[in-house]
Amino acid sequence: MPIFYDTHAHLDYPDYAKDFADVLARAQAAGIAKIISIGTSLDSSERAIRLAEKYPAIYAAVGWHPSDAMKAPADLRPALREFAKHPKVVAIGEIGLDYHRLPGTSGAYGGASVPASRLVRSLAPPTQSSDDTRYKQKQADIFQQQLEVAAETGLNCVIHQRDAFDDTLAQIKPFAGKVRGVFHCFGENADRMRRVLDIGSLVSFTGIVTFKNGQNVRDTVAATPLDQLMLETDCPYLAPVPYRGQRCEPAYVKEISGVVAQVKGCSPEELSAATCQTAKRFFRKLS
Ligand SMILES: [Zn+2]
Repeated sequence: MPIFYDTHAHLDYPDYAKDFADVLARAQAAGIAKIISIGTSLDSSERAIRLAEKYPAIYAAVGWHPSDAMKAPADLRPALREFAKHPKVVAIGEIGLDYHRLPGTSGAYGGASVPASRLVRSLAPPTQSSDDTRYKQKQADIFQQQLEVAAETGLNCVIHQRDAFDDTLAQIKPFAGKVRGVFHCFGENADRMRRVLDIGSLVSFTGIVTFKNGQNVRDTVAATPLDQLMLETDCPYLAPVPYRGQRCEPAYVKEISGVVAQVKGCSPEELSAATCQTAKRFFRKLS
C-alpha cells in the first residue's frame, strides 16, 4: 500500500475530542504514516506538541494564524523560540496574511482555519476602514516576527494566505535562501504557483482537487512539478469527495492522492515516493 503524509491537519481542534483514537486508526489503515498537526495560536501550538509527544505518527508546527492576529501578544518570538527547540516541532506555522474577511468590509473575520465556535465570537459590528489598516498591520507584524523565528531556528514555514497573494509573497521574499514556505491549500493559478517555486517555496493541495468545481486547482496541479508539491487535508475542513461537507480527517489524504496521481498521470507509488521525499526535505525533523 502506498504511504502518504498529511502535512496539514488541525488535530487539536475539539472536532476530534470524542473519537481521536478512531481517527488515528483510520489514518493508519489508509496508509497515512505521518501527520503534522498545525498550530493556530500559542495554546493550539502547545496542544499540537502534546499530541506529537503522545503519538509517534504525529508531528507539530507552531505558529499564530493571521485571522486571529488581533488576539496575538505583542511579541510572539520568545514563546515560539522555546517551542522550536522541541524535536518534533517541524515548522513554524501556520502564518501569513488573510484579507478575505476584513473587519471593515464584512464585520467578521476568521479564516478557513478558525473553528465555527470561535468565528461566532469574532463577530463584530461593521467598522471603518481604519480598522482594516490596523488589522492588516498587525497581521504583517506577527507574520514578520514568525519569519524571523523561522530564520533563526532553521525551520521552514507553513504559509496561509487568502486574497493576499502579492503581499504574502513580498513579505517572505527577503527570507528566501534562509526560509522556505509551503503555500498550503493552494488554490491559485499556474503562474502564481511558479512565482512561489521561484523563491524556493512549495505548494500543497487539499481535498479541493476532488471537487467538481475544482478544475482550476487540478490545472495548477497538472502544471506543478511532481517533486515540488505536498498533500494535506487541512482537516477538519475541506473533506474530499465522496465525504464533501462532512468532517474531514487525515485518512482522506488517500482520496486526495488518488485524484492527484490521476492528474499527474503517475502511479500512486510514484506519487507516494515523490511527496514523502519532498516532505522529509522540507520538514527536516520529520524523521
Ligand atoms: Zn490550516
